[in-house]
Amino acid sequence: MGENTGTGRHRVVVIGGGYAGTMAANRLTRRDAEVTLVNPRPEFVERIRLHQLVGGTHDAVHRLRDVLAERVALVVDEATRIDTARGAVDLASGRTLEYDYLVYAVGSAGAEPTVPGAAEFAHPLSTLEDARRARAAVEAAPLGAPVAVVGGGPTGIEAAAELAERGRPVTLVTGGVLGPSLHPAARRALAARLRALGVLVLDGAGARAAEVGPAVVRLDDGRAVRSDVTLWTAGFGVPDLAARSGLSTDGAGRLLTDETLTSVDDPRIVAAGDAAAPSGAPYRMSCQAALPLGSHAADVLLARMAGTTPPTVAVGFVGQCLSTGRSSGLVQTASTDDRARAPFVRGRAAAAIKEAVCWSTYAGLVVEGRHPGLVQWAFVKDGRRRRLLEAPRRCDAARSRTA
Ligand SMILES: Cc1cc2nc3c(=O)[nH]c(=O)nc-3n(C[C@H](O)[C@H](O)[C@H](O)COP(=O)(O)OP(=O)(O)OC[C@H]3O[C@@H](n4cnc5c(N)ncnc54)[C@H](O)[C@@H]3O)c2cc1C
Repeated sequence: MGENTGTGRHRVVVIGGGYAGTMAANRLTRRDAEVTLVNPRPEFVERIRLHQLVGGTHDAVHRLRDVLAERVALVVDEATRIDTARGAVDLASGRTLEYDYLVYAVGSAGAEPTVPGAAEFAHPLSTLEDARRARAAVEAAPLGAPVAVVGGGPTGIEAAAELAERGRPVTLVTGGVLGPSLHPAARRALAARLRALGVLVLDGAGARAAEVGPAVVRLDDGRAVRSDVTLWTAGFGVPDLAARSGLSTDGAGRLLTDETLTSVDDPRIVAAGDAAAPSGAPYRMSCQAALPLGSHAADVLLARMAGTTPPTVAVGFVGQCLSTGRSSGLVQTASTDDRARAPFVRGRAAAAIKEAVCWSTYAGLVVEGRHPGLVQWAFVKDGRRRRLLEAPRRCDAARSRTA
């Protein structure tokens, strides 16, 4: 594999300074490599607190430099193209970074809403900039102004609860099911908590947003929900950098890799986090997966540099933590292959667990920056990946060659 002939050290470029990219960059400094991380802003965004930013209880940012190992060079810029032929990343500023290895960790954002009026009148909250705009819109509205949150998944639930706890009248438009990934018992407890907070939960057939106007969300079944501020949390999308660069992606645009997180097109490129699709069967959007995927991507490259066999990926899940305001939460246990189980924790204890998870997630990155390699993961050989590997055609089916 190529090496920087000037210094004899491998040059690694990491695109994206979120959970996965930061973890990977820090871990890569275990070896004497030149590690450069590119991120569009000098802040590390705690995306898992963006609903708190909207509710005004956290700013969700830290200095990115504080999370990075000293030996990681930070370039505040945006990658516009990966040129695999040249082994170079073009940046928005016009600069180019050459690499021997590349970590693709651009994360995710909401999908472009296709519902009429949503792009004009609803505020997404999946990026820092989105969440800040949503916060400004909420602050500009009087306390009694109705707020609609579209999306019954974790982000919608957490945002609705956060705002309701601050005294806002909130309607949650679930699109069908409240917390579809939850066990029915946990879902019932969640519904009770939201009721107690005064959130009007709209679920069932017809409870899907069909149109958004300046002060209304119209549903499939014709109902009109008054809304002075509409938050949009439905859908999942990833940046199209891989596709634009001619790399193979899955249908959503995640970089298609093998089970070592290595691009199916180029052995110098590994992917991690929300933007990775190992074998066309990505892990759930989560920092729970993004962090171990980040360290795994680094371990794969460290193995390549050392000339040893790179390990295959197997991330085990433990559950899902939801905050339902500052004083309460819901912790849903799951099997290692991410299927909800009946046991769950709620109330203050769950809020404390959620807060501890958020805190330790950030602290884990700082620790890895100071002592690369210290953070260890219980990589579980979970059944999901075994089943996946037994379905050999799936990877090919998911592939969408965009070159
Ligand atoms: C409100 C909310 C609450 C959440 N709560 C939880 C939770 O409780 N538990 C959980 O496990 N998950 C949660 N998630 C999901 C979790 O935040 C994501 O799965 C996680 O951030 C993914 O990490 P990542 O490193 O892949 O991507 P990100 O954290 O999205 O980081 C990607 C980085 O890459 C940068 N980037 C993008 N394009 C480029 C480019 N072209 N050039 C350079 N840089 C680029 C981005 O700006 C960003 O800084 C939540 C998400 C939201 C929105």
